[in-house]
Amino acid sequence: MAHPKTERTLVIVKPDGIQRALIGEIMKRYERMGLKLVALKMLVPTEELIEKHYLLDPNWKKTVGEKAIASYVSKGETPPSSDPFEVAEAVVKNLKTYMTSGPVIAMVWEGAHAVESVRKVTGGTEPRSAGIGTIRGDFVLDSYQVADTDRRAIRNLIHASGTVPEALMEIPLWFAPGEIISYRVPHEATLYDVDMKGILG
Ligand code: GDP
Ligand code: MG
Repeated sequence: MAHPKTERTLVIVKPDGIQRALIGEIMKRYERMGLKLVALKMLVPTEELIEKHYLLDPNWKKTVGEKAIASYVSKGETPPSSDPFEVAEAVVKNLKTYMTSGPVIAMVWEGAHAVESVRKVTGGTEPRSAGIGTIRGDFVLDSYQVADTDRRAIRNLIHASGTVPEALMEIPLWFAPGEIISYRVPHEATLYDVDMKGILG
């Protein structure tokens, strides 16, 4: 089995993240945790790529629809539909418009618990309810309510793989194997080496 420190996750700075000049701020959050950047590119995604990306997981539609409906209910508001698939269908359509509207930056970050750690500092899907101190909570203020009123996707600056299996499906969609680079950085010794040798002269 691969060592847990080799876990990888896909992060995309969405078009609003680039327009808000938050590229450096976002990358800094992952870099300073000790995660290692192993792939990076800028591109304007096609609608086909975005559709493939969001429909890689056959359960995503159900989950995203249910999550959106639950968010309305928890705030005492009425969801646009009670059918999760109908809600998700509209989300996919809006995501295509949003994600193809300008350049994005796709990245692969590597390290122990990369998927979980990146999600933790990225914050929840809806910036309105994302935690204080998270990127989505600190830098943007969109909500299900505002996005759905204007029939658009929630602008939340970032995509980050939600689970390890999701990351394993998403990374090959955005990067060819040769575009991902295996290398070492010195601080990995402090993060992971078993005996911390070589500090004292
Ligand atoms: P994430 O993993 O936190 O990005 O969230 P999901 O995978 O559930 O959803 C993907 C993206 O679709 C989100 O980042 C939002 O941009 C958008 N989105 C998700 N749910 C909704 C929704 O209920 N309404 C709207 N308007 N956009 C949504
Ligand atoms: Mg997701």
